[in-house]
Amino acid sequence: MIITKTLEEIELMRQSALVVSKTLGMLAKEVKPGVTTKQLDKMAEEFIRDQGAIPGFLGLYDCPSTLLCSVNEAVVHGLPTDIPLEEGDIVSIDCGALMNEFYGDHAYTFEIGEVAPETKKLLQITKESLYIGIREFKAGNRVGDVGYAIQKYCEDQGYGVVRELVGHGLGRKMHEDPEMPNYGKRGRGKKFVEGQVVAIEPMINMGTHRIKQLSDGWTIVTLDGKPSAHFEHDVALVNGRPEILSTFAYVYEALGIKSDEENEFRQKELVL
Ligand code: MG
Ligand code: MG
Repeated sequence: MIITKTLEEIELMRQSALVVSKTLGMLAKEVKPGVTTKQLDKMAEEFIRDQGAIPGFLGLYDCPSTLLCSVNEAVVHGLPTDIPLEEGDIVSIDCGALMNEFYGDHAYTFEIGEVAPETKKLLQITKESLYIGIREFKAGNRVGDVGYAIQKYCEDQGYGVVRELVGHGLGRKMHEDPEMPNYGKRGRGKKFVEGQVVAIEPMINMGTHRIKQLSDGWTIVTLDGKPSAHFEHDVALVNGRPEILSTFAYVYEALGIKSDEENEFRQKELVL
């Protein structure tokens, strides 16, 4: 069952989404060679609590950490470790927070120093596919329209689209209906309804779409060992159009990147 939100609730969810957006922005300055994902996890937990929020993943499904940090061939659900990040690595950082009874859920894949050109391209296409998917989250469309758009864009580049892990509805629970796969068929699945909020999160592999889980019971890696990327935004359906609640603006500010990619999905001006 899709739980729709009132405009007031969507504003509360925007606050939760901004907590995780700011957390990723803070981490953007810290993600560099030599730092460990355990150190990043500790920083993120303190930062989230300092904002009056609670880490959203910690304890959820027995998750032991605030962040899920997936390095190189790890797709998602990587547990923080004591292994220092190295020049040329990529790390997908997924972050959840609970504030005012609503969850924010947000992910960005960072480059550590200089990464290989083909890896850079994987990140670029995966992020572009996120916006291509968000564009389809509108009145009259269905779940399959978002998945189809993401899948087509990524497979046309020769990339693998992970099947087993999907985006989701978001609200008072981290995972609400509907599931939002990154693959699908046009015109199929549940119809979108005004006031629903979803996390759209393409997980795209450079090679095969096939994955496996490591023996830690959490980390998902690509079956062929090639890199994987993951970007995630929280999006509400307002006035029949996608309204982005999270923002990469804090990350871009930290990294010195100029971008207007989110503008078309903002009916309300973003106040940083
Ligand atoms: Mg997430
Ligand atoms: Mg999610």
